[in-house]
Amino acid sequence: HAKREGGGVRSFFEPGMNAEVEKKRELEIDLRRALPLKQFHVEYQPQVRLSSGRVVGFEALLRWRHPLRGPVSPSIFIPVAERIGLIGTIGEWVLRTACQSAAPWPADINVAVNVSPLQFRSLDLPEKVVAALAASGLPPSRLELEITEGALLADTAEVLQQLRRIKAEGVRIAMDDFGTGFSSLSYLRKFPFDKIKIDQSFVRSSNHDREAQAIVRAITALGTSLGMTTIAEGVETPEQLARMRTVGCTDVQGYLTGRPLSEGEAAALVARILHVADLAGEDA
Ligand code: C2E
Ligand code: MG
Ligand code: MG
Ligand code: MG
Repeated sequence: HAKREGGGVRSFFEPGMNAEVEKKRELEIDLRRALPLKQFHVEYQPQVRLSSGRVVGFEALLRWRHPLRGPVSPSIFIPVAERIGLIGTIGEWVLRTACQSAAPWPADINVAVNVSPLQFRSLDLPEKVVAALAASGLPPSRLELEITEGALLADTAEVLQQLRRIKAEGVRIAMDDFGTGFSSLSYLRKFPFDKIKIDQSFVRSSNHDREAQAIVRAITALGTSLGMTTIAEGVETPEQLARMRTVGCTDVQGYLTGRPLSEGEAAALVARILHVADLAGEDA
């Protein structure tokens, strides 16, 4: 082990390693400039109710288009933003942008915003949520925050208190990537989530994996009995959709029912839904 560390120290002076450190620093510098240079935008992925086939909401997904790097995945840059202390500012921007986009949508269509565990550190997340709602005019009942169990790992009392304050405003809370952490189940007892998002790894492996399918069925039953909505993430094929319906999931989200859309495309989609609903109303 000691030998390995020695090797690491030596390799720091090798050109390859130096280039890696340099690359990392450049990414951090670029990320700090991304917001002021307006390189971020938000896309909206439809969430579909299985019982009606209707879009009931959209998940806001942050996008970074760098002029030279091109699109950078949030799985790459969100952890960097968290590490260098930028996630609070970026997260607040996403929250405000998503609320602004969703405000003109029909009253029964919601927006879900991802919140990093680190956004609970400053203790004023509830105030930021209330301010974003007030600035946009979006009713609290149409906003949902998605948190991963990472949020509940540390400083639980303070996180729970903020979650309760946010929920008291009428905003719903969803548990994201359910089943991927170590103690997903125990967190369901710590906080009354409104929704469980079943991680896409279970949806994907349920194709050939009977255990995965049994787990999805159990999560769905648990969610339903606790009065929570369940949504399956990453549904890509008609077979997966059929399976999620069979096990009793409420909603699905995935490439099959819709890729993440630009703000304009999402607005056009909800307008079309409204139109169809109007037509149905005339028929009846
Ligand atoms: P997530 O919250 O679990 O979001 C779902 C991810 O699955 C998104 O990836 C989405 O594009 C992708 N996805 C949706 N349907 C399918 C499908 O059918 N197949 C496959 N293969 N993938 C699908 P994306 O946009 O790359 O985001 C990755 C993660 O980055 C998100 O996972 C979330 O944890 C994080 N993230 C994205 N936007 C934000 C943000 O504004 N704030 C924070 N804190 N995290 C964000
Ligand atoms: Mg999410
Ligand atoms: Mg997820
Ligand atoms: Mg994820």
